[in-house]
Amino acid sequence: MLQLDGSIGEGGGQILRTALSLSLLTGKPFHLSNIRAGRKKPGLMRQHLVCVQAAKAIGHATVVGDHLHSTELTFTPHTVQAGHYHFPIGSAGSTMLVLQTLLPVLMMQDQPSTFKIEGGTHNPMAPTLDFVQRSFLPALAKIGVQAEVFSEQVGFFPVGGGLINVTIQPWVDRKPLSLLDRGALRESNAYAGVLNLDGHIVERELAVLDQMLTLSNQGYLHLSGRGQGNTAFVEVVSKHHTEVFTALGEMGRTAEQVAKKLANEVKRYLMATCAVDEHLADQLLLPLALGVGGEFSCREITDHTRTQALMIETFLTAKIRIEEGEQRDYYVVR
Ligand code: ATP
Repeated sequence: MLQLDGSIGEGGGQILRTALSLSLLTGKPFHLSNIRAGRKKPGLMRQHLVCVQAAKAIGHATVVGDHLHSTELTFTPHTVQAGHYHFPIGSAGSTMLVLQTLLPVLMMQDQPSTFKIEGGTHNPMAPTLDFVQRSFLPALAKIGVQAEVFSEQVGFFPVGGGLINVTIQPWVDRKPLSLLDRGALRESNAYAGVLNLDGHIVERELAVLDQMLTLSNQGYLHLSGRGQGNTAFVEVVSKHHTEVFTALGEMGRTAEQVAKKLANEVKRYLMATCAVDEHLADQLLLPLALGVGGEFSCREITDHTRTQALMIETFLTAKIRIEEGEQRDYYVVR
C-alpha cells in the first residue's frame, strides 16, 4: 500500500483527486494522511467526499475514512467499470473537480461512459464549465481524447443546483502534445452572464473588458438554474491554442472590479509568449503522463503543478521535466 502525505507541496485537494485517479488506473491501493492539511478547513469537504464516492463507485473500491472532515483515507481499488453514472454533490461543490477525477480513469477504458454530476459549475479556485468546454477539452482533443460536457443548468455557491452531462469515449488514437507555440492571435472574445441577478452587471463587466482589451466579439451568457451568480470570461483564440480566463462575481466587489481583474489576467497572458497559462498547465500533466507524452510551454509553474508532478511520479514511471526558458514567464514542460 502506498503511504501518501496530504500535506506535501501545497497540501490541497488535488493530492487526493490525483491519488484516486491513479489508484484506479494502476490498481495500487493507498493510505492518505493529513488530507488538505495546507488548507484553513482541512479534511474532506463535501466535494472531496463526492470524488471519493465517485471513485469508489466506478472502481468497486474498498474505502475506510470516507466521511466529512476525515483527514485520513484508505482506498483499495478493484475493477474499474465504464458505464452510466450519476453523482449528486448535494451542495455547490465543484462538478468540474469531480470530472477532473473521473475523466482520466474513464477515458482509459475500452467502453464509453456517460454520467451526470450535480453541484456547482462556476466555483472559485476550480475550473469553470466555460474553461473546461472551451480550453481544457479542446487541448485534450489535440492528443486524441474524446470527451464532451454539456450543461443546461449552472450552479453557483452557495445554492449549487447545476447539472452537467458528460460523455467520454475510449482513448484510442493517442497522440503526443506539441504546444510550445500558441501561434498568431486570431481573436479575443468576452462573455458575461448573470443567474437571477440584474442584467446591468453584465453590461458593466463587458464595458470594462471592452475598454481594457481589444475584443473581437462580446456576448451575453444566458444562464439558467437555481440561486444567484455572475460570471465573465475571456477566450483568447490563437492559431494553435485557446486559453480561457474566468472571473466570478463576489459580494463586496463591484462589476468593474471583477472585470478589471479579469482583463489584467488576460493582458498578462497576451504579454507572455507561452502557449498555456498556469491552471491548464497543472491539468495537462496527468493526461500527458497517461498517453504518449508531449510538451507544452507555460507562463508559470505553480506549487500546484509541482505537487501534481510529484503525485504522478509516485504512481507512474513517467518522468515530468520542467525547464525554465530565457524569459521569466516561459517554462517548458515535457
Ligand atoms: P482545496 O480546497 O484543498 O484548495 P480543491 O480541491 O478545491 O482544494 P485545488 O487543490 O486548489 O482545489 O485544485 C484546484 C484545481 O482547479 C486545479 O487544477 C487548478 O488548476 C484549477 N483552477 C483553479 N482556478 C482556476 C481557474 N481560474 N481556471 C481554471 N482552472 C482553475
